[in-house]
Amino acid sequence: MIATKGYAVQDAQSDLAPWNFERRAVGPHDVQFDILFCGVCHSDLHQIKDDWGGAIFPMVPGHEIVGRVVAVGSHVKKFKIGDLAGTGCLVDSCRTCDNCKEGLEQFCSNGFSATYNGMEQDHKTPTYGGYSNTIVVHEDFVLHISDKLDLAATAPLLCAGITTYSPLKFLGVGKGHKLAVLGLGGLGHMAVKFGVAFGAEVTVLSTSPNKESDAKKLGAHKFVVTSDPIQLQSVTGYFDFIVDTVSAQHDINKYINLLSVKGTHVCIGVPPAAYELYPAGLIFGRKSIVGSLIGGLPETQEMLDFCAVNNITSDIELIDIKNINEAYDRMVKGDVRYRFVIDMKTLK
Ligand code: NAP
Ligand code: ZN
Ligand code: ZN
Repeated sequence: MIATKGYAVQDAQSDLAPWNFERRAVGPHDVQFDILFCGVCHSDLHQIKDDWGGAIFPMVPGHEIVGRVVAVGSHVKKFKIGDLAGTGCLVDSCRTCDNCKEGLEQFCSNGFSATYNGMEQDHKTPTYGGYSNTIVVHEDFVLHISDKLDLAATAPLLCAGITTYSPLKFLGVGKGHKLAVLGLGGLGHMAVKFGVAFGAEVTVLSTSPNKESDAKKLGAHKFVVTSDPIQLQSVTGYFDFIVDTVSAQHDINKYINLLSVKGTHVCIGVPPAAYELYPAGLIFGRKSIVGSLIGGLPETQEMLDFCAVNNITSDIELIDIKNINEAYDRMVKGDVRYRFVIDMKTLK
């Protein structure tokens, strides 16, 4: 077993605090890498607070993980000691169901192993995430990370990146499309970057007027303050796609009004409770609502390679792990520009 240092919550009421635990010894197909940076996703906060139910404690969050390989198993072919490596939201899956075979491991029919707050494929060993100094993962669930990009700013690609890249890809968003990004946070700012890279006209829909200049710097063409009825009216029936990244309760009917005929509202934010939906808003215009969950392993590697070629990373604020609870408080207030990333050497 490998002695590991991390930060964990012991129950849904507690703050994150130092916690030591053990990871499995490196098996024949495993890669062990020391974690250099880990992004802070709003899902980490939802899960430590047990917003979605079923939380497993103690919980070590973190699924935007990058670092350097320090050990490989005897059968590992894709990695060697010294390589950069990354892991996102998945550390294993059954690999035999139709979805796994299609590279959609996030929809594994037998239940994927989440990087934390989940179980290994034995369905009884809990998983622990990236707010820790080292991790052991089967090589099939380890991604290659380019040395051309800033490593700390690459970490958020492992969740915020793939979660926004994947729906834009499967919906074919590109030139000639009007794309709205609802919520300019960690996911939202990546959706803007990918939307612009794919050639769409991108509008940010935000509750925060003070994010306008940032939105434009990120490449957005328009910025709409959603609390202003006049601004909202100006984009009624306008968008082909809305990517909804909002983490809190909100009225999606108000945004469905902004879709053009045959437009699509893409749910990727996961508020803790159900939406109220008026079907007429969809019926008058043959509009759709679709959901999207992170992305599978092949597409995650494709996204990382696309980012390396197109020089795309996240805009980050690097933090000391001792300040993680304060970072969560700021995230709840929407005060993140635009992703916190933990510098893991501060864990020492
Ligand atoms: P984040 O950085 O906190 O950004 C969320 C943004 O939503 C905020 O910056 C804010 O943007 C907007 N917002 C917050 N509260 C709002 C409210 N009450 N009404 C309207 N807008 C509000 O969070 P994130 O890390 O991007 O994650 C966003 C959501 O996606 C979370 O629920 C997370 O769990 C989920 N998620 C889903 C997947 C998936 O696979 N589907 C993957 C990762 C994360 P403005 O200031 O611009 O309004
Ligand atoms: Zn995430
Ligand atoms: Zn499967």
